[in-house]
Amino acid sequence: MLPLLEIKKICKSFGDLPAVNSLSLVVNAGEIFCLLGPSGCGKTTMLRMLAGFETPESGSIMIDGRDMTAVPPAERPVNIMFQNYALFPHLSVADNIAYGLRRSGMSAPALSDRVDELLHLVRLKRFEGRKPDSLSGGQRQRTALARALARQPKLLLLDEPLAALDRKLREETQVELVSLQRQLGTSFIVVTHDQDEAMSLASRIGIMNEGHLIQTGSPQELYDKPENAFVADFLGEVSFLTGAFIRGEPDVTIALRPEHVSLRSARAKATENEFDLPVHYESATYLGANWMVRVKSASGITIKALLSPDEMDQLAPQSGAQLTVIFLRSKMHVLAPDGLASLAGAK
Ligand code: ATP
Repeated sequence: MLPLLEIKKICKSFGDLPAVNSLSLVVNAGEIFCLLGPSGCGKTTMLRMLAGFETPESGSIMIDGRDMTAVPPAERPVNIMFQNYALFPHLSVADNIAYGLRRSGMSAPALSDRVDELLHLVRLKRFEGRKPDSLSGGQRQRTALARALARQPKLLLLDEPLAALDRKLREETQVELVSLQRQLGTSFIVVTHDQDEAMSLASRIGIMNEGHLIQTGSPQELYDKPENAFVADFLGEVSFLTGAFIRGEPDVTIALRPEHVSLRSARAKATENEFDLPVHYESATYLGANWMVRVKSASGITIKALLSPDEMDQLAPQSGAQLTVIFLRSKMHVLAPDGLASLAGAK
């Protein structure tokens, strides 16, 4: 079966600056794929090229086996939902949703049925006559989503779809968006710089930095097996340690997640399957369900450990207290030989 979207070696520069650099990617039908990366890494530029608003200098974009190079935006089987939603302020919710359908020449009865279907889909039937400025942020977002889905695009592009919503609403809307996508089967490509958003929405994530696609995989693959320090650091909390962690092997750099780090007394010793390291206590932050504790090794490396409130009570560390970090050898993730170089280049 053909992939829904196949991007091959796409390049786009603005002046001397390569915004997207030889990016290749395959997205299958029914996926929610998140392009995740720091501000300015080229995510929006890639999205705009998929929509046809920017022209790549080289490379190709195939959708459903068809080369999109010469296809104008309105004729692509793609729609885009902008970050600010770009709703028409003078039109009602129903007319905003109907806008693209009207322009496509759909008959009045079919149009009315389709708008009704979409209003129910996004739970806005009661609000169909309202103008955007009398809607809540979540309702505006759902109007924009219904408008973007109206013509049944094969691929829906969403640029920071939840950025304008407050935290609580963002979490609810994430769940709604995933359930809507499952119901419709439309593929979504979501651009975001928010790792939590990407982790909770995506079936697969592509991490971008400086125009390059660094690694793609499921949220779990990227979290558990990051290819380099940049990916490890971008997705969640991590500590990096360099040393002779593998017997008989030269020094390597490892990534260690805080939930895999135990803190014990200064006299604690590792078992056969563990590794121990003397550290001293620096500080701790209460996160609600857990504590994030920062300790420092003799060589000055900060290591983060996630402790339950009970563990924290038992340890009751004083400032500067000598402790031992213990972690399972099986939980240390050895990074590619360039070690921390990928991180240094990115920050
Ligand atoms: P953000 O998360 O901040 O939106 P982004 O990852 O989406 O960032 P892009 O908007 O794609 O990044 O920008 C990539 C680079 O290209 C940036 O350095 C940006 O300044 C530059 N750029 C984007 N659009 C243009 C343009 N029209 N003219 C000149 N430079 C541009």
